[in-house]
Amino acid sequence: MELQKALGLIAEVPDFPEPGVLFRDLTPLFADPAGFAAVVGALAETVGPEVDLIAGVEARGFLLAAAVGYARGIGVVLVRKPGKLPRVAGRVDYQLEYGTASVELPAGIVSPGQRVVVMDDVLATGGTAAAACKLLRDGGAVVEGVSVVMELTALGGRAVLEGNGVHALQAC
Ligand code: AMP
Repeated sequence: MELQKALGLIAEVPDFPEPGVLFRDLTPLFADPAGFAAVVGALAETVGPEVDLIAGVEARGFLLAAAVGYARGIGVVLVRKPGKLPRVAGRVDYQLEYGTASVELPAGIVSPGQRVVVMDDVLATGGTAAAACKLLRDGGAVVEGVSVVMELTALGGRAVLEGNGVHALQAC
């Protein structure tokens, strides 16, 4: 399937999870084998030849990272919400519009100097991806870039991630 047609499978859901937010729902895309294959193929092309690991951000980033990792023969590391990992290498707390959130890295997975690409479905304010990048760097990794399916340009995530090489299949 052509990439633009595949991206058209992403649904827009107004006022979720709260009033005023236009939620980009990738579940119809994930459920369509040709659409999913087109997006995974395009994301795989954003990952350079020297990359050692793909970091999937919980939860939709897990699906994308796993599929791209499999397609490219690259291992995957999970960037998780707190309280899910039995052994934790590190944690980064970051600000949300209301309150804070955290991401954790599993212990013993990332080796110093490994080149990692961060992968998620949507880049909004950039807070989550920036926290993932910091977490990986704290763990000794070299962050090669951030790859997402969709970038919400009005929210300024790319500026927050300056210097991190953002690749987005679609900018809205
Ligand atoms: P941010 O930290 O603001 O860049 O938000 C990125 C994270 O929140 C990603 O893991 C996305 O899955 C999710 N997210 C933020 N805004 C949206 C949105 N409008 N639609 C779907 N997911 C979103």
